Amino acid sequence: LRQAIERQEFVLHYQPRVELSSDRIVGFEALVRWNHPDLGLVYPDEFISVAEETGLIAPLGEWVAREACAQLVRWRSQGFAIESMAVNVSARQFRQRMPIELVRGALEESGLEAQHLEIEITESAVMQDTRQALETLEELRQIGVRVAIDDFGTGYSSLSYLRGLAIDAVKIDKSFVDGIENNVDDEVLTSTIVLMAHSLGLAVVAEGVESERQLTFLRGENCDEIQGYWLAKPMDPELCRSFI
Ligand code: C2E
Ligand code: MG
Ligand code: MG
Repeated sequence: LRQAIERQEFVLHYQPRVELSSDRIVGFEALVRWNHPDLGLVYPDEFISVAEETGLIAPLGEWVAREACAQLVRWRSQGFAIESMAVNVSARQFRQRMPIELVRGALEESGLEAQHLEIEITESAVMQDTRQALETLEELRQIGVRVAIDDFGTGYSSLSYLRGLAIDAVKIDKSFVDGIENNVDDEVLTSTIVLMAHSLGLAVVAEGVESERQLTFLRGENCDEIQGYWLAKPMDPELCRSFI
């Protein structure tokens, strides 16, 4: 991993997010891949945890944030009206208050305005050290970036806890979306998350949408945005351009 960072073997793929009220692509999520000389594309589930354990998540995360911001600036300067770029921040990054420096640096270097950047943090990362998390989220809000809770519904956070957080959106975990076609409990949970998030003034993104049936259900529940293979897999920047 250390060598890979030096040799710049990482690439970003981008997955579009569609706003259901307008059916427009409003943003992309940046997802890192390791373009290994022998193994080919290696996916983040295989190396993010190692990067966290070794501390290499710091330089890697920094590169991801910079590259993602720079990419959005390029698209926008080419005339594409893409409103937001989402960047994932892992639990360890979040705990070490790195997102603050990381976000400032990436915005400054790319010239991207803060409102176009969205930081995705998993629910479990926010739950680990509540007081620290509250402060970091507050600082991110002051910078003006948006914050979304990723994999929402899997981290056992309570309603009252969510109310106190400086966040803008929740991303319903794919496991609930998966059940939409065949599990009434998952359908009920999904509707409840949408209702609850809306009543707290939060936007809702459903991730991992793979079928028309899921899409129709989410539309009916007034989910704000969707992301998933039904629309597009994460793509390299070239492919994204032709997709926009
Ligand atoms: P995530 O942020 O929840 O991202 C969603 C994952 O689901 C992505 O996997 C995406 O490719 C996949 N996905 C999207 N739509 C569908 C669908 O319709 N069906 C299925 N089966 N999968 C779908 P990916 O790219 O392998 O990333 C896995 C996780 O790795 C991410 O989950 C995120 O937590 C982490 N990750 C990715 N990039 C970064 C990064 O730059 N920094 C950090 N810290 N973590 C990252
Ligand atoms: Mg994410
Ligand atoms: Mg997720």
